[in-house]
Amino acid sequence: MSNDQPMDQTLLLLLHAQPDGTVDRPSLETVTATLAVRDRLRASLHVGLVGSRARDVAAALAACGASRWLAVEGEAFDAARYATDAAAAEALVRASGASVVVAPHTSRWARALPGVACRLGGRVDTHVTRVVVGGDTARRGHHDVGGPSAPGLQVARWYYRQRIEAVLTRAERPWIILVDPGCHAPWPGGTAAVSAPEVHALAVEVPPHLQRTRIVGIEAPTSGSSTIRPDADLLFVAGAGWTKKQADGQVHLAEAEQIILEFLELSQASLGGSKSLVDLSGEGQAVLPFLTHLHQVGQTGSTPRHRKGLSTCCHGEEPHVVGWRFITERRAINLDPGCGWARGKADVLYVADAFEVMRRLNEHLRRRRPASTPA
Ligand SMILES: Cc1cc2nc3c(=O)[nH]c(=O)nc-3n(C[C@H](O)[C@H](O)[C@H](O)COP(=O)(O)OP(=O)(O)OC[C@H]3O[C@@H](n4cnc5c(N)ncnc54)[C@H](O)[C@@H]3O)c2cc1C
Repeated sequence: MSNDQPMDQTLLLLLHAQPDGTVDRPSLETVTATLAVRDRLRASLHVGLVGSRARDVAAALAACGASRWLAVEGEAFDAARYATDAAAAEALVRASGASVVVAPHTSRWARALPGVACRLGGRVDTHVTRVVVGGDTARRGHHDVGGPSAPGLQVARWYYRQRIEAVLTRAERPWIILVDPGCHAPWPGGTAAVSAPEVHALAVEVPPHLQRTRIVGIEAPTSGSSTIRPDADLLFVAGAGWTKKQADGQVHLAEAEQIILEFLELSQASLGGSKSLVDLSGEGQAVLPFLTHLHQVGQTGSTPRHRKGLSTCCHGEEPHVVGWRFITERRAINLDPGCGWARGKADVLYVADAFEVMRRLNEHLRRRRPASTPA
């Protein structure tokens, strides 16, 4: 495929099938983003699927109205491995002939698709938060990368640790767009019953050198992951204050742990931490064992997307608060009326003892919990 080819209006939605044949949330969100673009461009839609359960995914997405279904099937394509993922994606993009490829920004596609773009003489954009059609191309922040822009299609993404949003377009094709999870509602499915589509399987050779990387097992973090809940309505942030001497001159770590874990269990909030708190373990100090670096929110941590946030025992310094960019309603509890949150960074600051406030809040939530809910 060369850049001189006339640009067609075919989109390829590229997904990998889960081992159990279900369609995961990032994929469903990408379906939403792709269908919106398809409708605005009046483009035709192809779907490319990878993995041995590709046909289950095709059946689940049948109502999306794609005109062509392609798959690279077989167990060799189930494992997340650069060589086979890239080979499958390359074959699908070539067979489709699409000028624009949209895929979820999973770690798997983020690793494989830049190489595929290179092989095809195209371009890739990662961490895309919006795909825009027919926007105001003259608006501030718009960049036309790589020559005259293709009419209509632009992507938005953030730079400089989520401080600057750029809207850009590209002339090169194929243009591979990786859509960040958490930016679109998951596709709800079609309303009418649709029979499973006819899937055209592509034969992709898997010589031994493509399978040199073998998955021998999965090591998940022992703590932390179950308290990071990207879908939660509320982000609960714990700061280093939970580990500091309190008014009685003592440290109350065991109580801090009990209060925080009970709140997370009762509210199903997602847990975040300040850098000072998550660094303590590395410095050999007394720590809250369920907090890891995966929880760190901020400039050198994550920038999660939740509707509300509650910060506790955290000072609200800028390198931390920059990670709250996508938190719409912000509240904080701090003993210090002059803390960072008081300086326009929170909607509400409770100048209070977080131990006391959270104990009372937990009591309140416990009382509200339906009697049938297990403790
Ligand atoms: C380059 C760089 C990058 C950084 N990146 C990050 C980042 O990604 N994320 C991040 O978090 N930080 C980051 N930092 C560090 C950041 O500047 C702060 O040092 C850090 O956020 C402070 O953490 P903290 O507020 O939990 O702790 P502290 O500053 O120690 O604040 C503890 C707070 O707890 C309060 N407190 C104590 N007891 C109670 C109580 N009983 N009730 C209520 N409040 C109480 C105190 O009043 C105090 O305000 C970065 C710094 C630099 C230089």
